[in-house]
Amino acid sequence: MSNQNSNKGNNNNNNFFNDNPLLAFAIFSIVVIIIFKSFVAEGDRDFSNFMGNPKIKRTEHVKYSDIKRYIKENRVSSVKITSSTIEAIDKSGTVRYVAGNVPAFDDKLIPLLEDNNITYEGRIGEGIVSQLISMLLPIFIFFAIWLFIAKKMSKGMGGILGAGKSDKLINSERPNVKFDDVQGVKEAKDEVVEIVDFLKYPERYIELGAKIPKGLLLVGPPGTGKTLLAKAVAGEAEVPFFSVSGSGFIEMFVGVGASRVRDLFEQAKRNAPSIVFIDEIDAIGKSRASGGQMGGNDEREQTLNQLLAEMDGFGTDTPVIVLAATNRPETLDAALLRAGRFDRQVLVDKPDYAGRLAILKVHSKDVKLDESVDLEVVAKQTAGLAGADLANIINESALLAGRANKKSIEQSDLLEAIERAFVGLEKKNRKVSDVEKRIVAYHESGHALMAELTKGATRVTKVSIIPRGLGALGYTLHLPDDEDRFLKQKHELLAEIDVLLGGRAAEEVFLGEISTGAGNDLDRATAILKDMISVYGMSDVAGLMVLSRTQSSFLGGGMVSNDYSEKMAEEIDAHIKNTLNERYTFVKDTLKEYRGAIEKMAQVLLDVEVIEGNLVQKIIKEYEEENNMSSRMAHI
Ligand code: ADP
Ligand code: ZN
Repeated sequence: MSNQNSNKGNNNNNNFFNDNPLLAFAIFSIVVIIIFKSFVAEGDRDFSNFMGNPKIKRTEHVKYSDIKRYIKENRVSSVKITSSTIEAIDKSGTVRYVAGNVPAFDDKLIPLLEDNNITYEGRIGEGIVSQLISMLLPIFIFFAIWLFIAKKMSKGMGGILGAGKSDKLINSERPNVKFDDVQGVKEAKDEVVEIVDFLKYPERYIELGAKIPKGLLLVGPPGTGKTLLAKAVAGEAEVPFFSVSGSGFIEMFVGVGASRVRDLFEQAKRNAPSIVFIDEIDAIGKSRASGGQMGGNDEREQTLNQLLAEMDGFGTDTPVIVLAATNRPETLDAALLRAGRFDRQVLVDKPDYAGRLAILKVHSKDVKLDESVDLEVVAKQTAGLAGADLANIINESALLAGRANKKSIEQSDLLEAIERAFVGLEKKNRKVSDVEKRIVAYHESGHALMAELTKGATRVTKVSIIPRGLGALGYTLHLPDDEDRFLKQKHELLAEIDVLLGGRAAEEVFLGEISTGAGNDLDRATAILKDMISVYGMSDVAGLMVLSRTQSSFLGGGMVSNDYSEKMAEEIDAHIKNTLNERYTFVKDTLKEYRGAIEKMAQVLLDVEVIEGNLVQKIIKEYEEENNMSSRMAHI
């Protein structure tokens, strides 16, 4: 998405002449010729003033060949040449002149004067050069006009002539966006601050031999401020910002994109330290494997290869940082994500309540709000919207107030603007209703509680009810405490099942009704149990026997045939069902026991949409202490 706040750079002043060097030269030559013509034509006709010589006694009109003869006979002391006369002054003080039919230049006259040590003047602008220019001038003008028209046309037609030149597609500016202008994306900001320092003091890092990432991928839904954040990095570091859009690279003509990439990096390196920003990088960097379309991919592939070559081409000692934005990182070619390229990903997600409030504040700085306006209410009502939507709401409310001829924006204007935003967004971005929010808040609290109370589960780092991507209305983020795990023990698998069941159990216990939101959880819980029985030998049903299932090609797509008896299949089914029921009862009992803690978590979620892991732990601990329970916290 492009930014309305962009500041036009100061370095574009000379663009006209830079773009049209021939036209500039033609204009320049015309001006020079006009000046010289008028200078020279202003011939000195008053012979008594000739060369300021007081000795002049008389004048005489002679033939051109006479002057040459006088020179050869050494009778001439000085000569003045204009476009229409040659005036020679005699040693006797007589001026002899030729007027009218004088050749505009005479390459024999000047050497003659020089050979005889005779001073002369007035030759400027009347030599061979000016003759040539006046001959070539019409050609020049014609050529310049043609070039000008061709340029105009090529722009309209997508660059046949201007193919290699990407002047208009590469945007260069010096943004004065600061980190304070980007709100609600704190984690992302934390990730990019070190880049600012590097761009400001590159020598420090280079001397130390520190390896600064060359490429950073900003990942997130449209309108969350990826472009804005990239600009803020440039703004904070006070370095130039070169930006292009991935889709702008892909042209009809093979080779155009690649040459634009070359151009972009050339400019960035020339102006280093600097930032290169590539919006919608997925347009270039789509996985080659997933391409699929017949032909027509040459252009994209060439562009991508050029980009890879450019990124490999400058060392970590060149202070150019490439930032790219996408909302579909999974479609990117693996080559782009390799070390030394875009090896770091930064999530720029939709803002939570606090983030939205901060964004609203930033954008309402430049508009006039009535005292009655309560931005907190606006922030509450805009769950699921991105920064760009919020900026739009503020602007829309200003338009509404203006139309009603109000002096300032009132709360009602903002509410109306919110409504409009949601109506417009209905198709791509659903608004979460209050009922849904409540369900999600309890559901996620159930997961979170079970994760904290179950030994073998991973602790909670963050619970959120901000809708994300397709389908998911909320999520509980677990991060393992230690590094990568390749083995799981039986109790850990069971713990995972308990945590998964926590969501649905919470809905049943606290809301009295079950929603479709737990479908995915149950799917996963069932799959874990099945694997425990048939793959890992962790049950009495099958013992150590591994029970494989084969996809039969005869039975058609979805059908699966078991390699084990019907009886075994029944036993497995029964075992899974019983185990799930057993665990489910246990989980429900746990939730009931911690009713107050769940209520508290759900309330916080409804208020601010996000709870950090340590607040979850604090709520549970306090609840246990208030009720004199012996702690069941599993991770302390
Ligand atoms: P993206 O590049 O992620 O699609 P942009 O950076 O182009 O989004 O955002 C468009 C505009 O929306 C910005 O110029 C800014 O006015 C507003 N905006 C978006 N996100 C934020 C944010 N986190 N903080 C402040 N303003 C934002
Ligand atoms: Zn769930």
